[in-house]
Amino acid sequence: MNDVCILGTDTDAGKTTFALLWLAAFSDAYSYWKPVETGPSDSAAVRKLVPAATVFEPALSLVDPVAPPLAARRVNAMIPAAKEMARLRPAAPRLLIETFGSPFSPLNETELQIALVRALDCPTILVSSSKLGAIGRTLATLYALDAHGNRPHAVVLIGPRDDYALEQVRRYRPALAVFALTPPEEWTAAGVKHCASRQRTALRELREALGPHGRPTDTIVRRDREALWHPYTSLREPDAPLVCVGARDEFLHLADGRRVIDGISSWWTILHGHRYPPLMDAFRAAAADYDHVHFAGLTHPPGVELAELLLSTMPWSGGRVFYSDNGSTAVEVALKMAYQYWRHRGETYRSRFVGFEHGYHGDTFGAMAVSRDPVFFGAFEPLLFKADILPLDANRLDEYLAKNGSKVAAVIIEPLVQGAGGMRMHSPQALHDLFQAAKRHGMLFIADEVMTGGGRLGLLWAHQARDIVPDIVCAAKTLAGGILSLAATIAAPHVAAAWDTDEPSRTFFHGHSFTAHPLACAVAAANWKMLTSEFPKAPAEMERFWRQALEPLRDDPRVEDVRVRGSIAAVELKSTGGYLSQVGRALRRSCLADGVLLRPLGSVLYSLPPLQTSQESLNQIAAAMIRAVRTTFL
Ligand code: PMP
Repeated sequence: MNDVCILGTDTDAGKTTFALLWLAAFSDAYSYWKPVETGPSDSAAVRKLVPAATVFEPALSLVDPVAPPLAARRVNAMIPAAKEMARLRPAAPRLLIETFGSPFSPLNETELQIALVRALDCPTILVSSSKLGAIGRTLATLYALDAHGNRPHAVVLIGPRDDYALEQVRRYRPALAVFALTPPEEWTAAGVKHCASRQRTALRELREALGPHGRPTDTIVRRDREALWHPYTSLREPDAPLVCVGARDEFLHLADGRRVIDGISSWWTILHGHRYPPLMDAFRAAAADYDHVHFAGLTHPPGVELAELLLSTMPWSGGRVFYSDNGSTAVEVALKMAYQYWRHRGETYRSRFVGFEHGYHGDTFGAMAVSRDPVFFGAFEPLLFKADILPLDANRLDEYLAKNGSKVAAVIIEPLVQGAGGMRMHSPQALHDLFQAAKRHGMLFIADEVMTGGGRLGLLWAHQARDIVPDIVCAAKTLAGGILSLAATIAAPHVAAAWDTDEPSRTFFHGHSFTAHPLACAVAAANWKMLTSEFPKAPAEMERFWRQALEPLRDDPRVEDVRVRGSIAAVELKSTGGYLSQVGRALRRSCLADGVLLRPLGSVLYSLPPLQTSQESLNQIAAAMIRAVRTTFL
């Protein structure tokens, strides 16, 4: 995107003066658009004073020179939402977009103008008047913009040159390009032109400060290759890592200037979108009070609030939440709880667990033991404790438990979708039958909802698909919207009750330094408040979209299966070699060339994008998947 957006510290900061100078210097390259005008028209002034510039009509013009929502109220008009207004942006190769007032002026009845700036999503220049108070005014706006995750590319002090103000703003914001410009002496087209040409050098430098956005990436990649060891990545990985310099909505911004769609929500963590504003607000609010505080002998309101919210969604009343910090630890905690539960009941011989083929529960030892994936964990086989891995079949589980049930502590399952094992899906009925079989034999039933929990599948929890009442539920990944790392192991009341004694040896001896990080809990509580008050429609809508968009692949001779559930879509190719299959790399490269970042699980190409992903981006993902499947074998 080549557009530039002008912000002002306040009304009369000099935004239009700056726009005039910029357009007089670069009218061949930039067109002007002021989306919202109140009072005398700046667009008309620009038309008059820079006749060579193309000036687009505002999206909204209101006569009264007051805040737009007030001006609109007076004429019974409605101001559209920021996102809608951003969509009215004229199609031109490069726009200079002028905002009104300050970024924190009200845009409509519910949003400040910063929402429009965010929706416009282009580099910004902050204009501030150089008159007395410039330093405080400029820094105050910059700090306020920081709080909203908007960092201008440059600052322009406009008015009589003030070297002290320049020096001070540079001192406190050393990474920012700060410029001084003086206004025209004569407010005529010739006067503006003359003023711009006199300040040609500063204007050119300013334009350079905006881009090209690409930055050299070879140094960082070389240093990365020397110092780092990436997860699930060979030290001899032929594809250089992508250098990410920012993330927003469904997009990752790369250092070379590309913007790619994060089609797998950053390893399934980002629920709504990157830096989702309501959750970032919760994060910033909590950061005003906390950093980390430990959780043994201390508690905090966000941790308590979140626990109550989580428990209120469980199929039992009461119970306890045990926090940790990632999916694997949530599973470790569940396994330890299950084992110790039986010990407390005197059944010390229950030391086996049951998992399922293609299951994946994490990378720590307990989690590996109940996953037993030969490719990922085969090398550690001699170190893993006893677990039996069965086909996902209720009759087989029933038979197995009839013989071995007395030695088993718990059955662990990823309900409805086995993620890392290849986005394999089973029906609610199959899950229900497995649950019934486990319960017939008195087993504890652990629902590992690290991937499925939190709304991806169109339900808060996958186990809600049928009347399944797990004894322990594991959650992580999207718990805090993916913004921060947090995990919860949620125990049913009868499980927690096994520790409810005065006997000190009956303590659950487990705890991580970052258990219940207050910031993560605060963000997660905000997330769960949203999810429980109004469940998002996106998973159901995405499910419909995927079914229709990927339909053409169902008859493709290269395709083994197309699987869809909620926001998840997976295409399994007929290829041998499983996870290590080379086809995965080829598929990834093909999608990346189409601006979509996916990370196939071997020959399974899948996407589970953030729930706020736009229709345009969804179309792009589906098209990239289809092209990758159709061309990879050629
Ligand atoms: N359980 C399931 C079902 C998972 O999908 C994962 C991660 N993919 C984990 C546990 C482990 O989570 P983490 O990577 O946060 O340790």
